[in-house]
Amino acid sequence: MRKNIFALFILLVLSGFSTVNAMNIQYALKMPKPQNHYFEVEMLIEDYKEATLEVKMPVWAPGSYLVREFAKNVNLVKAFDEKGNTLTVQKTNKNTWKIQKGNAKSVKVKYEVYSFELSVRTSFLDLTHGYVSGTGVFMYIENQQENKGKLIVYPYSGFKKISTALPKAKEGMASDGAETFEFSNYDQLVDCPIEIGNHIEFSFQSAGVNHRVAMYGDGNFDVEQLKKDMAKITATATQVIGENPNKEYLFIIHNVVDGQGGLEHINSTTLSVNRWTYQGGEYIGFLSLVAHEYFHLWNVKRIRPIELGPFNYDEENYTSMLWVMEGFTSYYDELLLLRAGYYTQEQYIQKVLSGLNYVEGSEGSRVQPVAHASFDAWIKSYRPNENSANTTMTYYSRGGLLAAVLDAKIVAKFNGKKCLDNFMQKLYQDFYKKLIRGFSEAEFQKALSDFMEEDMSAFFRDYVNDTRVPDYKSIFAPVGLKVEYIGNAKPSFGASFSQSNGKAMVKGIRVNSAAENAGLSVNDEVIGYNGYRVEAGDLDGIFAGLTPGESINLLISRDDVLLEIKAIMGSYERPIYKMTFDNNEKTLKLRNYWLR
Ligand SMILES: [Zn+2]
Repeated sequence: MRKNIFALFILLVLSGFSTVNAMNIQYALKMPKPQNHYFEVEMLIEDYKEATLEVKMPVWAPGSYLVREFAKNVNLVKAFDEKGNTLTVQKTNKNTWKIQKGNAKSVKVKYEVYSFELSVRTSFLDLTHGYVSGTGVFMYIENQQENKGKLIVYPYSGFKKISTALPKAKEGMASDGAETFEFSNYDQLVDCPIEIGNHIEFSFQSAGVNHRVAMYGDGNFDVEQLKKDMAKITATATQVIGENPNKEYLFIIHNVVDGQGGLEHINSTTLSVNRWTYQGGEYIGFLSLVAHEYFHLWNVKRIRPIELGPFNYDEENYTSMLWVMEGFTSYYDELLLLRAGYYTQEQYIQKVLSGLNYVEGSEGSRVQPVAHASFDAWIKSYRPNENSANTTMTYYSRGGLLAAVLDAKIVAKFNGKKCLDNFMQKLYQDFYKKLIRGFSEAEFQKALSDFMEEDMSAFFRDYVNDTRVPDYKSIFAPVGLKVEYIGNAKPSFGASFSQSNGKAMVKGIRVNSAAENAGLSVNDEVIGYNGYRVEAGDLDGIFAGLTPGESINLLISRDDVLLEIKAIMGSYERPIYKMTFDNNEKTLKLRNYWLR
């Protein structure tokens, strides 16, 4: 956001204030009948010079790398001049409406948005509350995203509270409950989700920031406990970079049955969690989500690849660096909990180990480099299919593991005087603060090499752009961790099953497995084994009792055709590692610095 304001300022100075279209834009958001799930939006556009204008609905929500086609929810797009005369509106592609403005002094665009998908990246409205994820509700005017403007929210008469990180305008709240907000540019407008309803809101101070928490829905939370824990986590996160760029920060939390995680914004976040997540063993998962989304206010919202802002809302924004944005953030979400005292070193190491075993134990790790996983997030990670386990590896997990690898290397190389924090600080200072922009992949590589005082190109060649297995043993030994490979071959058929209406269905086939070699496919229904009928739930037990080389006869139904499948039981060595503390005086010092 700062980038855009600054860029606009430079443009104004260079252009002598002549070329920028000093247009006024004001949005109105209405919801008179929430039970219909329609937000009504009006855009009042004044001082727009051209005879035609195009309004567009984004196709995606930044932070969630999938084309969602938000225009599919838009109906009744109409435009009027200042006298109320109808202007011609023509749809020119899936998300663009062209308006014949002619000589009109102002244009009012009206439309409605069906909003019935409650997630952190979509919008929702019913009689209990409204949630606005801006990219799915507010259209923008082509080539005018840099304009500042106002938003007036007219809450439904039964809704008494509006929570958003958008700054309030001096107009404040009107007697009918309508409240006016300001935005510096379109990016800011849609980067501030809005919760409207009768939720509770509480606040806490930490790291010099006033944090507000808007809680939609009941749950087993204890507000005082949340204030304490969230203050600790936000303060610990701030220490990583050493500076918190926000004065205000808003958490919007949706307490629902089916919690879906979070989405980061520059000075707010929305979390969607199970409403009973706040007690017992699940609570640490909630705190980890808080740490994750909060850390994003630096990593991805400010420390970022050049491709991720200002955004192109019209199509995919490709970057090969989500492994840094999501992977490093995933590394820090657990590390912050360790630093804040929620894990012991032993517990934390188990987290690192389970990440390592997940990554190295997955077939997809040997197929998809983490840079490719990032680039293809739009079509692979966000659109998985039954074969994804064989061909993909998430940039969250492998990126998080590479962050641990780099952290250990940094701690060892600089003898406990520097860690990954210092590299993140460098990125924040060199790009966000000094250059006021993101970095290219080449700039990131150079920054890491400069920081490490050595050429890091082999790291990128082998582990980022290829799928080689790092030498974990030598990487973690200097920081007091002994890594041992303990994988060995075990009997394996290579198919996984699910139960559907009492039927045993094949849901996954491991590449090069006995199941694949025999010709079993996903969605086959297994009916018989070696001449006997089998029930759903029998199969895992049957295969667990077989030894490699035994013959298997399966009767299956594929598309209602009965087929016999002959297989030979196989074996499979899933890579698996063990980590233990192994210290001398020096490595103990480094481990205690790393896991402080
Ligand atoms: Zn994330």
